[in-house]
Amino acid sequence: DNEDINKFIQNTQLSSHNNLKEVLEWIPYYKFCDITYIAENEYKANWIDGNINYWDESIQNWIREGQNMIVILKKLNNTKDITLLFDKIKTDYIFYGITQNPETKDYMMVLNEKCKKCNNICYSIHFQQNFNNWTSGNDDIDKFIQDTQISAHNDVKKALEWIPYDKFYDIKYIAENKYKANWRDGHIFDWDGKNKNWKRSQNIIAVLKKLNNAKDIRSVFINEIYIAYGITQNPETKDYMMVLSDICKKCNKICYSIHFQQNFNNWTSGNDDIDKFIQDTQLSSHKDDVKKALEWIPYNKLYNVEYIAKGGFGKVYKANWIDGNIIFWDNKYQNWKRIGQNMFVALKSLNNSKNVTLEFMNEV
Ligand SMILES: [Zn+2]
Ligand SMILES: [Zn+2]
Ligand SMILES: [Zn+2]
Repeated sequence: DNEDINKFIQNTQLSSHNNLKEVLEWIPYYKFCDITYIAENEYKANWIDGNINYWDESIQNWIREGQNMIVILKKLNNTKDITLLFDKIKTDYIFYGITQNPETKDYMMVLNEKCKKCNNICYSIHFQQNFNNWTSGNDDIDKFIQDTQISAHNDVKKALEWIPYDKFYDIKYIAENKYKANWRDGHIFDWDGKNKNWKRSQNIIAVLKKLNNAKDIRSVFINEIYIAYGITQNPETKDYMMVLSDICKKCNKICYSIHFQQNFNNWTSGNDDIDKFIQDTQLSSHKDDVKKALEWIPYNKLYNVEYIAKGGFGKVYKANWIDGNIIFWDNKYQNWKRIGQNMFVALKSLNNSKNVTLEFMNEV
């Protein structure tokens, strides 16, 4: 019933041509339900029809998407300057159309929050709209999870979630502070616009690892080689736990580093510096650089050990190595494939276990 508004809506429609992004509609008020107050002159509502997506030639009608989507109804104060307002509103919101409250006679803009960076409703917006529905009980952890969600944008893998402990079952001990569990829902992989919820992988195995340092969570997650899904809390011990996959973050698959890592508990040199050094070489092998990885080789894997000489760097021996060296991971046998069984190797004494890295770097 307002000439300015009619004219304005018509103009956006006439100038659309092949682009529906700037088009507004007149939306009757009865197309909204569950209208709730959020702030002065601002309401939340469900829009029954959803917005226009494209024109369907065969049925000669508009096809819509986002049925029952949540929209914001914001009072239009001045219908005279609507063109100016339109440009301003468009930078902060997606603008679908205009409606009128039949009781107050107020004209209301029908809007949706949008991401300014992506210029659409990216994953970050969906996460943000859910911030009030969960908490870890720890402000630092809440903030950390929220930050990963806000910065996810179009890469949902970047986002962590708060996962209630009761979503896990068959929780089994694997190592100190480490458990395996079935995760009923599975991790998020996309947004389901129809059901207004996340699409999830369903029933996956996750690793729960105790978060030792709740103060510096960020670096704990950065240093983790596995893709992380989120954080949970054991309600009995009150321990916060990282929820991890068995997939390498860098390679997006189970790479060599992961196979080595899963075997860390099955060997030790008896010297922490040497263990750490070997582990680091193994963790940096990833997809195809298995040559970078060193191993701890038990002495009984060597035979015919013969003294050769005392060189510049210490005593040198010659020996045969029963197993030979690793060339790749054999998925069929779930073990390393090796070549050069019984090959000759040289054994050189390691003089300074404190500075293993340097000694290996100097080795020709
Ligand atoms: Zn045209
Ligand atoms: Zn975004
Ligand atoms: Zn990797």
